[in-house]
Amino acid sequence: MSFVIALLIALVLMAFISVISQRSRTPLHNKQMEIEKIDRLLPQTQCGDCGYPGCRPYAEAIVMQRADINRCLPGGNNTIKNLSRLTGKETRPLYKPEKPSNQVAIIDESVCIGCVKCIKACPVDAIIGAPKLMHNVIYKYCTGCELCIAPCPVDCIQMVSRN
Ligand code: SF4
Ligand code: SF4
Ligand code: SF4
Repeated sequence: MSFVIALLIALVLMAFISVISQRSRTPLHNKQMEIEKIDRLLPQTQCGDCGYPGCRPYAEAIVMQRADINRCLPGGNNTIKNLSRLTGKETRPLYKPEKPSNQVAIIDESVCIGCVKCIKACPVDAIIGAPKLMHNVIYKYCTGCELCIAPCPVDCIQMVSRN
């Protein structure tokens, strides 16, 4: 019987501590948590295409209501959808910067083994190809984010000037 009472007291205490700790969270603490969550959804290329010096500053701008959720070019529409789910903000078409990146990816077709890893890495569907066949970049869609370079097992993707 005394064990049951002790258990009940422990449960009540735990519930009390949980309520107190929830209340002691400051708005600033909540904002930091929000920034962390948003930052985790961003591609971490730190390319600055969003108009901010990196992913975390962009996440901060979203939380401070200074930026919309559609500015991450490398993240593309998937990131917009994920950010919309997390923040409750409406999805919007991907933001187009006034000065787009001057670089595009090119694939050396003679070396490509058709592994499709670059297709999976490209956030804006700028690469076409099929398993075991050579792949190509559609330059007008490429944002120059470089996300396709690291996954290529034979190093046949390079960034070149768009002009
Ligand atoms: S555009 Fe996207 S990946 Fe590039 S810095 Fe901004 S949030 Fe990060
Ligand atoms: S650099 Fe590569 S991953 Fe980035 S948009 Fe261009 S083709 Fe896609
Ligand atoms: S990752 Fe490299 S080897 Fe694989 S399909 Fe793309 S370009 Fe070809």
